[in-house]
Amino acid sequence: MDNQKLHIETPLIASLPLSRLAGGRVWLKMESIQPSGSFKLRGIGNACMTHAAAGARQFLSSSGGNAGIAVAYAGRKLGIPVTVVVPETTPSRSIELITQESARIVVAGASWQEAHAHAVQILAPGWVYIHPFDDPLLWAGHAGMIDETVRQGVTPDAVVLSVGGGGLLCGVIEGLVRNGLSAIPVIAVETKGAASLAASIRENKHTAVDEITSIATSLGAKKVAKQAFAHALKYNVHSHLVSDRQALDACRSFALDHRVLVEPACGAALAAVYEPLEILNAARNILVVVCGGAGVTMQQILKGPNLS
Ligand SMILES: *Cc1c(COP(=O)(O)O)cnc(C)c1O
Repeated sequence: MDNQKLHIETPLIASLPLSRLAGGRVWLKMESIQPSGSFKLRGIGNACMTHAAAGARQFLSSSGGNAGIAVAYAGRKLGIPVTVVVPETTPSRSIELITQESARIVVAGASWQEAHAHAVQILAPGWVYIHPFDDPLLWAGHAGMIDETVRQGVTPDAVVLSVGGGGLLCGVIEGLVRNGLSAIPVIAVETKGAASLAASIRENKHTAVDEITSIATSLGAKKVAKQAFAHALKYNVHSHLVSDRQALDACRSFALDHRVLVEPACGAALAAVYEPLEILNAARNILVVVCGGAGVTMQQILKGPNLS
């Protein structure tokens, strides 16, 4: 069964440097080594396989980032053509990665919201739109990383992850629930310039932020999925914010400590452990989702433009 999936089972690595900082044992779920470069392949692979089985003839994505790359990867593996609508702000590196997966690119709109609106408009019969975060098929696929962690012999008593649109959060909570771990704290980390979950929690309603100003572009959803906000209220979710500077510093430290390059979006979660966050003090086994990021470059990590 498992070898029919598009994602791979990822290593779970104990981090000595991070364990020293956090007190408890820190376990790294290495989603950065998924063939598409991020955890997104778990959920998107699940969605694409489900739709392929139902006869989809074309996949459509609206993401110039890791979601678009994952859909392009899934389509190539399944032999189904892919169109990715990307906003004008998409870096050439991302376009290169999507093109490398043989997907067709359409450039439309100034932001993801506009690319998304355009994508929904050009949907044709037989085409399936794969949303980057707001889809139960994605959450079910992401949840598999918790099953895998437990199977690999670790029962976490805290989880640290990044939040963009909240698809990863929904998936991890689904996984925790079905493994009897729904009570453990989940540290939901965003950068200050992409703090849409934090805004909804603060205002106690499902709300959008006006703009995204963070270098962690993969966290740049102005509004999280409704389910992510509902989960944040229902479960033991702790919202935490870090600066772009902290996220980048964490990427650098992580490259040195573990010889792996990740996007600032992933650096955000790592920053909470490098800090380290007080709530982690009580945890014996801390699971950190190393969500990855295909778009990262050496230059971005070494220099880091527009630091706030
Ligand atoms: C998509 C993504 C996130 C955020 O995931 P959401 O499901 O949108 O919350 C974080 N890090 C990386 C590397 C991503 O690709």
